[in-house]
Amino acid sequence: AKQSLILLYGGRSAEREVSVLSAESVMFAVNYDKFVVKTFFITQSGEVVKTQVLTETPAQGTKLMTNETVKTADVVSPASIYEKDAVVFPVLHGPMGEDGSIQGFLEVLKMPYVGPNITSASVTMDKIMAKHVFESVGVPQVPYVALTDVAELDAKIAEVTATLTYPVFVKPANMGSSVGISKVTSESDLRPAIEEALKFDSRILIEQGVEAREIEVGVLGNADVMTTLPGEVVKDVAFYDYNAKYIDNQITMAIPASIPDETAVAMRKYAELAYRAVAGTGLSRCDFFMTADHQIYLNEINAIPGFTQFSMYPLLWENMGLTYADLIEKLVDLGLEAFAIRE
Ligand code: ATP
Ligand code: MG
Ligand code: MG
Ligand code: MG
Repeated sequence: AKQSLILLYGGRSAEREVSVLSAESVMFAVNYDKFVVKTFFITQSGEVVKTQVLTETPAQGTKLMTNETVKTADVVSPASIYEKDAVVFPVLHGPMGEDGSIQGFLEVLKMPYVGPNITSASVTMDKIMAKHVFESVGVPQVPYVALTDVAELDAKIAEVTATLTYPVFVKPANMGSSVGISKVTSESDLRPAIEEALKFDSRILIEQGVEAREIEVGVLGNADVMTTLPGEVVKDVAFYDYNAKYIDNQITMAIPASIPDETAVAMRKYAELAYRAVAGTGLSRCDFFMTADHQIYLNEINAIPGFTQFSMYPLLWENMGLTYADLIEKLVDLGLEAFAIRE
């Protein structure tokens, strides 16, 4: 019998559009000799809608259903995604997807799933928590100030002034795709930037800005961890914001990145160290900054990175000789392996 692969896509977070694109890429790439693909759309309000069932490669141009096309009559109870022996691929980014909540739900359902477990998803989703964990294993990061209690706002602003230099980056702790992030170039702009970030989360990170190239490493595995050669996000914009990432297409990738060998080796070592420290399973994309004098800092780990066939993560693996379709199969195998250990 073919393996059922259940794709969960859409989702409640600001990154739902990226999720749809990633899920569509998976839908086209899967080997239908081995898999049947069943798709469930999660609406912005968190309803689960049963959408397509695919038993063969869909015709070119086929779209997954989204907010505009789903029929509310097809809303189902979340638990009805359950199917014995199926594997779930939560192709979801950001809060309620990449943060451990869906993973916990799938564990309660006793279903195998692709990607991060509860711990790695929740720790990497919270940028402040992640910093503490990376610090504990000696992974280099830029200096930062964490605001976790809004009553301390004035004290934290004073701390930023005393310990960081402008520009700084203000980020909601729980987000992705640059949503809610601002680059702040002077003290007078700091408070408004924090207030903007507070619209997205009550925990705020204020980071030292660095002038740096952005270099990313793909990580794949459970107990056995593999890393890719690094790739570079080549920007023609100073700040890799949501529009640059997804709307304006102002980004090109250089794979492998042209950086010194020893820097690549160090990055891969830190990527693996950080991945293990957050109890990584499945996959992650570890994003680094590299300054002109080759200092490296881990910026963040994305536990469910952009996964279209033109996204950095799959392309990093393609450069290592693993095709997009084979990468999907490897991820399914890793999900089944993690499930077997849990059960
Ligand atoms: P995603 O999950 O989509 O990768 P994100 O929302 O988690 O993004 P970050 O990666 O933390 O956000 O920041 C977004 C972008 O802002 C970075 O890719 C980089 O261009 C810029 N940036 C963030 N922090 C800094 C910093 N400390 N110094 C310089 N640039 C930064
Ligand atoms: Mg991120
Ligand atoms: Mg992200
Ligand atoms: Mg990022």
